[in-house]
Amino acid sequence: EARPVFATVLAMLDHAIEKHPDTIALIHMGRALSYADEGRAVAALADDLARRGAAGRPVVVLVPNSLEYHIAYFAVLRAGGVPVLLNPLYPAPALEPLFADAMPVLVLAAPETADAARALQPRFGHDVVVMGEGGHTVVALVAAGPGRFQPRSVAPDAPAVLMFTGGTTGISKAIVHSHRAMVEGILRIDWGWPTRASGEVWLPVAPMFHIYGWFFGVGNPVHACATLVIPDRFQPDHVVQLIADHRVTVFGGGPPAIYQGLMAAAGFNTADLSSLAVCGGGGAPFPVEVLKRWKDRTGVEICEGYGMTEIAPIAVNTDSFGRKAGSVGKPVPDVEIRIADLADASVTLPAGGVGEVCVRGPHALTEYRNRPDETASAIRDGWVLTGDIGFMDADGFLTITDRKKDVILVKGFNVFPREVEEVIHEHADVRGVGVISQPDPRSGERIIAFVMVDQQAGDGPRVTAADILAHCKARLVGYKVPAEIRLVDDLPLTPARKLDRIALRRQAADAAD
Ligand code: ATP
Ligand code: MG
Repeated sequence: EARPVFATVLAMLDHAIEKHPDTIALIHMGRALSYADEGRAVAALADDLARRGAAGRPVVVLVPNSLEYHIAYFAVLRAGGVPVLLNPLYPAPALEPLFADAMPVLVLAAPETADAARALQPRFGHDVVVMGEGGHTVVALVAAGPGRFQPRSVAPDAPAVLMFTGGTTGISKAIVHSHRAMVEGILRIDWGWPTRASGEVWLPVAPMFHIYGWFFGVGNPVHACATLVIPDRFQPDHVVQLIADHRVTVFGGGPPAIYQGLMAAAGFNTADLSSLAVCGGGGAPFPVEVLKRWKDRTGVEICEGYGMTEIAPIAVNTDSFGRKAGSVGKPVPDVEIRIADLADASVTLPAGGVGEVCVRGPHALTEYRNRPDETASAIRDGWVLTGDIGFMDADGFLTITDRKKDVILVKGFNVFPREVEEVIHEHADVRGVGVISQPDPRSGERIIAFVMVDQQAGDGPRVTAADILAHCKARLVGYKVPAEIRLVDDLPLTPARKLDRIALRRQAADAAD
């Protein structure tokens, strides 16, 4: 079955509704919705939003991953509005600066986020529309929808999302991507890891307000006319069960913390995961050990991609070129990568040179919204200066060594925390690790490793900090060996479930006081 070339994200949904009306589009907490019924609900809600003046205006979607999320997002598009995707777990004070960026006229809230949305009404004057109890229920929207579905077109250049960067290195920045850009991204993900034009069962875990979660939970599954099984929050045991029960074929995945969580889940070793064909990974560096353990246990290779909110999202993929250990792969079609000299970004380094990764492509942003300074420093002649450090080998394979903001300086030497983390991860009892530094009067910075060890590691004595330190000393040159190893039960994660180094630095500083 050949897929048409779609001009917009909305056209993808309309296609699925027309061609696969009876396919189950969404499953969430025991509720299921066919594409035909999703189409009715989207049309009914869009009519209400249009009446409330959504056309051409920003509309916040403040809803967790659910049936309601999909309906809300597509209804905003169908009403001609600009969907503003925000973290539904944020309290009002955390939402306030994001609202100030977006200036919404309307907020689509879940029952549990409505209070936060209302708390901001005095400042922004938006309308709050609740999805669920006390507002629009899915059942009522389906019933109110038109008997015969009428597709509606929007312009390819119209905004398809207003979203924020992950906030891993500091304050999140707002980015607007057009339908055209998001469609280009979907096609490049599908090019790297092809899925069938129908019949796939997807399970996303990443939050759909984040770029990764949008592609693996909204854009790509709808493009594949797939059935989407949406877990209620990321509970590893439950997710393993859902994969087995629904014979999931495409696991959305995401950063390594997701995979580490699943591999530690109670039922993981006994569950039937044989239906899995594609497991997506990205958003943060994958320790080689995590890739290997997942492959050993499931037989499926994690499809790692390198990308970012700025590029909608994919720049590089591991699978289409033959894999090289440690590398994230080569650029996807029409994407160019160059490695810029860290001292002078206009100088491009030759193969093997370590510098800042710069990306150019048809689905890259042209500006950070409301941030001319950030735009001027990060976007030059269409090139996005990513803030990531890496190198390209002679065959064109890219390796990400670290982020510029994370590099540690010890006694005048650069230490990439990622390298230290990889080494610690090789220890069989280690389940996760985060390496940061604190200022030090003698060495400049002292390296601290937070190490999560396996709780289920047999009957033997639990591994000690001294064991990990000895492991490092045997494998790393002296200045790269952590000055301190701290065993922890958990590592802090950002909302996109990346290692939260800002929180780790704070923990280390608090402990020093
Ligand atoms: P902020 O820019 O707000 O600090 P962020 O960079 O984490 O947050 P995202 O756009 O979600 O926001 O993430 C993009 C970043 O994630 C990349 O710049 C890179 O550092 C990291 N990343 C993505 N994929 C990979 C990968 N496969 N390997 C290593 N790092 C990756
Ligand atoms: Mg970033």
